[in-house]
Order: sequence, then C-alpha cells, then structure tokens
Amino acid sequence: MRFVYLLTTLLVSTTPLLAQTIANYQKALSVLQKAISASGKTIPTSILLTSKGTIHNLGHYDIPEKTNDIPVDESVAYFQDEQVAYLRSVIQNNGGSFIRSAVSKSDSLYTTGYYNRALVRTNSQEFGYEAAKILPIKLLQFAYANRQSLRYLGQQDNHFLLSFSYKSNDAVTMYISTKTLLLDKIEKLGYNDQYGDVAFVSVYEGYEDKNGLNVPRTRTDYEFGKPEREMTYTAIRFDAKPDSSDLQLRWVPAAFRNKLPEVNRKIESLVFETIAPNLDLVKITSQNNKVLVAQFGDHIALFESPSGLGLNQQILSEIQKRYPQKPLRQVFLTHHHPDHAGGIRAFATLPVTFITTSGNEAYFKKILATNHTLSETRVGVEKNVQFDFVPVEGHKSYRDKLTEVVAYEIGKSTSHTVEHLVYYFPEQKLVWSGDLLFFRPDGRALPTGDRGKAVYNLITSNNLAVDKIYTAWPLNGQAAYGTVEDLRKSVKIK
Ligand SMILES: [Zn+2]
Repeated sequence: MRFVYLLTTLLVSTTPLLAQTIANYQKALSVLQKAISASGKTIPTSILLTSKGTIHNLGHYDIPEKTNDIPVDESVAYFQDEQVAYLRSVIQNNGGSFIRSAVSKSDSLYTTGYYNRALVRTNSQEFGYEAAKILPIKLLQFAYANRQSLRYLGQQDNHFLLSFSYKSNDAVTMYISTKTLLLDKIEKLGYNDQYGDVAFVSVYEGYEDKNGLNVPRTRTDYEFGKPEREMTYTAIRFDAKPDSSDLQLRWVPAAFRNKLPEVNRKIESLVFETIAPNLDLVKITSQNNKVLVAQFGDHIALFESPSGLGLNQQILSEIQKRYPQKPLRQVFLTHHHPDHAGGIRAFATLPVTFITTSGNEAYFKKILATNHTLSETRVGVEKNVQFDFVPVEGHKSYRDKLTEVVAYEIGKSTSHTVEHLVYYFPEQKLVWSGDLLFFRPDGRALPTGDRGKAVYNLITSNNLAVDKIYTAWPLNGQAAYGTVEDLRKSVKIK
C-alpha cells in the first residue's frame, strides 16, 4: 500500500514538470504580447525619436566618485520593414561638440565614436540592444525577436518579471507593470573591476500617448547604483525614411547607404503556369518543388502542401489574387512526407477539407494542432479540421460542373509509403503524382522500380486516357512532364 502511495506521489509530482519549459515560455509570451498591445494600438514601422539630457560622467576627477555633467542630444530611428536602426548622439564637453553615429542594417553596423572618428564596420548584435532600450516598445519587440530565450520569472511588487537574452551568457530582465502592462524598468547583470557585480538599469517614467503609441517622458539609466544618464524625450516622428535626407548618413559608404531603404522580406519565388484547362502548375523555384492548383466551379483545390507556413500562406495569397471569387476549399495530398504535406498547418484555420487516407489521420491531426509561436510566420488556432478519406486500394471522384478529379489509392504497390494517392483528371487527360516518378529532361528512360510500375499498372488496368503525367517534387533537372509511353519504356527496363 505504501509503495502504491509512493508511486502515485511520484507520478503526480513529476508529470507537470515534463512540459514546464514550454508552459513557462507560453506564460512569458502571453505577458509580452499584452505588453506590446498595451504600448500601442498600432505600432508604427517607422519611428524617429529625439531626446535631451545629461550624462553624469564618472571620470578621473579630484575626489572619489565625482561626476561631471555632460549635456547630450540624442536621435534614434527605427525602420522595422527595412531592418534599419540609427543613433546619433551629440555631447558638449570641454568646450567642444562631439558626435557619435551608428547605423545598422539587419546584422551589419557602421559606427563612428565621439572622440575617434574612424569608421568601423562591425556586427550589430550589441547595438540592437542599445538602440532598442531607448524606447520601450522597441525593447519589447527586441525581446519578441529573441523570444526563444523568453522566460517568466514571477511577480514582484506589481510587476511581471520576464527575462530574455540576445547573446550568449547575457540576460535582460523586464519589469512590466501588472496594472498598466507597460514596461517600467529593465535590468542587466554586468561586471566591473572596481564595483564588482553590478546591474545596468533603465527606468521609464511618465508614459504619454503619442498618436496612439505609449511613449515615456523620461528615461534614467543607472550604473553602479547611481544615475548615469537622465534623458527627456522631446519629439517623435512616424514619417521618416531610412535614407540620407532624414538621417544625415553622408559618412556611411555609398553601397551600404543604398541598401538601407530596401525592404527585407523572405519570400519564396512562385511561378504559375497554366498546363491544362482549369489547372495551374505552381513552380516553387526557391524550393525545387511544385504544387498543382485546380479550379472548380465555386472553389479552388490545392494539390500538395510542402513544409513551410510562410510558403503555404504565400501560395494561398497568390491563389486568392488569381481567383478572387473562389476560396480555397480542398487540399489534396498524395502522401504524408514533409515535402508533400508538411505545410498543412497553414490551412488549419480555414474551412478546408484535407483529402488523404485514414492512415494519416492521427499524424495530420497532430501537426494541424501544433503551436508555431517561434516561427516567423504567424498562424491562428486550428478550427474543426475536416478530412475526406480515400479508401485503401480504392478510388473516389471529386467533381462539379467544371472539373473532375479521381483519387486512386495505390500505396501498397509503390514501396514508398504504405498509403499513397495518385490523382487523375479525366477531362484534361492528366495524372498528378507525388514521389513516384522521374522523367529525364533528355527523354532517356530510367528504371522506375515499384513506384513507376504502380502508376503504370494503375493507368493500364483502369484504361485511363492519359496525355501528360506531372509530378510534384522535384522541379529542376527533370522534364516538364512525362507520357505513358515514357513510363512504359521505364517499366520495361530490368
Ligand atoms: Zn515521399
């Protein structure tokens, strides 16, 4: 009895620990997202912010810990779409004016110092943090960009404490007000030869609404427990551009300067080609893959969904542009491999039906319900997913007044996957297959093995009239399509 009790307590106490990291990350992410929303209804993609203040410079003066006050004027600019950040800081010291400038484009940085005017090119990692911490919303977005390291540390004196890191062996703690959900303070651990373990702290105060964005009135940076810098924000603009007219970038090499206004978007290269009435082949040139789009009377059907949320969302938006009156309603899959079905999560929030075989149901349901908060592409929560199963070794027709496609299940004879669908369009005399065939560009036949034989037997035993056989993967190094004659030659090779 005692043993049973012990075993039960062990189970109870260990089970919740299994996914603690994910649960903690999700809690932190939810607080961070609320803080981002609280910072502004819409976050402008271009922000130019100026501030004025004093640096309490801890120099080599006549008595210990004496500081000298240096006036400072700062301009910082953020251009989200272009991945550009800019900082210009002017100080008045010993009767002179000194300028420090820095401009980064994604991970590259050009900078000149107050006293050393030499132009230095370096990595923008540390500058990314320095620029972000000037404006709370940018710091929150910076934390989001580094969210894989995001953790919830608990609640302390009306603040949620979150931490994240943007480089190894370095963590930033954010203090987010439980009342306003605004960022009140950030803290970073550091080390100094004289002061030992120290915290670098920035405190934001007096939030004000500036065109829908919550901007603090002041920021105080603390070093070694004392204010190092006290800044007051003086103006904010949302219409600046990352070029020399707004940023005075004549000192940056021309080649780098010219790149600054370029918008960085990771997009796939898609080429649509109509191959038969109501059938478009979509060549994914960036991934050496293809999918097929079929137009039905009142909707569109997609054949294959290779891995990549962004890729599939892009395919969907291209389909919607081409056929604005016809929503995507069906996703036909040949088999479960990632280069054919790995992207179905992108459609889980839509009223689409997935056409597959019942052996894939559990696996597909699992990947359709996965969380993708770490992905660069956002996707909503899955809806009630609809499946339509083609019986094993059977077939099923999908037709309306415009188009018909017949799905044939031939997995067992392919030696590729236990279940595998091949699609036949009778009107177009066209076959769409997944991974089963390869047609050389020079027309020379290659031995096909079981895969090709399975398709050949399907066509001959059902007397299917076929002019063209298209395959999904790959795009390059293979003929646009094959014929039944090509396939017959291949099958004959021993
Ligand atoms: Zn495969």
